[in-house]
Amino acid sequence: MSRKPHIVILATGGTIAGAAAAETGGAYTSGQIGVEDLLSVIPEIRNLAEVSGEEIASIGSQDMDESNWLPMARRCNELLARDDVDGLVITHGTDTMEETAYFLNLTIRSSKPVVVTGAMRPANAHSADGPMNLFEAVATAVCPDSCGRGVMVVTNDTVFGARDVTKSCTTAIHTFQAPNFGPLGHVHAQNVEFQRKPQRIHTTDSEFNVDNVKELPKVGIVYAHAGGDSAIAVEAFAANGYDGIIHAGFGNGNFNQTVGDALAKAARSGITVIRASRALSGAVTEAGEVDDARYGFIAAGLLNPQKARILLQLALTVTQDRDRIREFFKTY
Ligand code: GLU
Repeated sequence: MSRKPHIVILATGGTIAGAAAAETGGAYTSGQIGVEDLLSVIPEIRNLAEVSGEEIASIGSQDMDESNWLPMARRCNELLARDDVDGLVITHGTDTMEETAYFLNLTIRSSKPVVVTGAMRPANAHSADGPMNLFEAVATAVCPDSCGRGVMVVTNDTVFGARDVTKSCTTAIHTFQAPNFGPLGHVHAQNVEFQRKPQRIHTTDSEFNVDNVKELPKVGIVYAHAGGDSAIAVEAFAANGYDGIIHAGFGNGNFNQTVGDALAKAARSGITVIRASRALSGAVTEAGEVDDARYGFIAAGLLNPQKARILLQLALTVTQDRDRIREFFKTY
């Protein structure tokens, strides 16, 4: 390429654009600082790429939902289809970054790099992590080796796959981890080195298309704890017309029997029930303590509950067939 790569930065808000009352951090408001202001503190980015910015939202990512995701996926696809755009960087709050990254991983139809980044410290805190994270996100987006690896999350010198990554700590800058497989690679200043590629279906091979989807099917998450009270939450989702329920179960997707009975009743009524786990790592397997065939449940495999929710929402846009949805959980 004779010209510099052109990277579009899509800003959504979050702490990377947050302003603190005191420079030490503490109480702050997400999404106060625009893309140009973020770029102005790291002019070196323009040595790596031509960058242009769009603000598509200005929110703390705790407020991120499908009303943002659907237009965001469409905008990403429009931009990535252009010959003059070589990759995207999306700035985002860290709270739901893994969910947005996984949603885009399944709905973007391009092998060009898409990198989601954010920060744990507000832009005007001491040792703010946002500028370096943004620089390294752009470095990853311009790296030819980044193509075809699905949507990535870059923070703290580390490149994660959207499917694997999760926020593991409330406050630390090394909050993002991929508990089962570790990162895809690392970034040191502008040098990006990959160790592996995601094996599950993503981006160009994904069959999910949200171009004409106005709203996603309703899927709720029920969290397991000692005792059977969560059955009340299962019944509330069922009574409110939910299409699916993710059970964030114990260990290998286990449940208290009262909750299991409520889930089985929901499954018999046509609601898709996925067994995920509240444990940080490991797969929920079909051949564990629960007989999924008997209950009509589907095992989430390695997806955590919040990502199992996204896959089920997208799966339900194309089918209600349980065998096909079970296959999605084995391949996506
Ligand atoms: N609640 C904020 C958000 O997710 C804080 C987390 C962050 O950006 O670090 O947008």
